[in-house]
Amino acid sequence: MELYTVNTGFFKLDGGAMFGVVPKTLWSRTNQADENNLCTWAMRSLLVVDGNRVVLIDNGIGDKQDAKFFSHYYLHGEDSLEKSLKNLGVGLHQITDNFLTHLHFDHCGGGIRYGSHGQYEATFSRATYWSNPDHWNWATRPNPREKASFLEENILPMEELGQLKFVDLATSSLFPGFDFITVDGHTDKQMLPKLQYKGKTLVFVADLLPSVGHIPIPYVMGYDTRPLLTMDEKAKFLEEAARKEYILFFEHDAVNECCTVKMTEKGVRVDQTFKLDEI
Ligand SMILES: [Zn+2]
Repeated sequence: MELYTVNTGFFKLDGGAMFGVVPKTLWSRTNQADENNLCTWAMRSLLVVDGNRVVLIDNGIGDKQDAKFFSHYYLHGEDSLEKSLKNLGVGLHQITDNFLTHLHFDHCGGGIRYGSHGQYEATFSRATYWSNPDHWNWATRPNPREKASFLEENILPMEELGQLKFVDLATSSLFPGFDFITVDGHTDKQMLPKLQYKGKTLVFVADLLPSVGHIPIPYVMGYDTRPLLTMDEKAKFLEEAARKEYILFFEHDAVNECCTVKMTEKGVRVDQTFKLDEI
């Protein structure tokens, strides 16, 4: 299995919303805010090449919404999904699978784009788009809290174009070496890929742990639907990650791609940070 980082660009979100009940005096030590209290976040996908499978995990925010929508998110940086894949020598048509951790717009917006006649088309023309039945039902009948994050134009065309499939939640595996963990605190049945890579286990931690700054247990996003459950899920996962020496791969950390964690007397904390290509 080969793994490659695919940077799709940076955006900004309110620092307070990203750290829930934790005061700015604490979270601003790891995440600097601008004059509007916004912090910069990455939208970092991961490309998994294994045999004839070319799997992209998540795909960034895309470009379908209007200027008013994007004015809230301050997209910036030189990277885009297309450019980053091109730099790796991978064409959009070569992607065989797009594995979607969940269907919030900053994770799945890049998978559907406008075609030359203004119609929706799949960015990855040959790919299977993977979700799961529980999350699909949750996302397509959204609660008022998450409605602004589940955008129909990102989601429904996958099914209408015939490219949507559901993973098997019973086996929690896409193929040997590509398993996943499900967590429910952020949203229903978010899926975190767990990959066997160079003799180690690497977990794509998505919105369970958006950044290194979210490793201490109370640092939970205000966006989470079930924050107490997130705290339990984090505690269990981080204890296992420390014990089994997992590598964590961050989707949203603007600086750190990967880290390991260690048990300390204060609980689990970051051990080493590094780039994917340093593994
Ligand atoms: Zn999310």
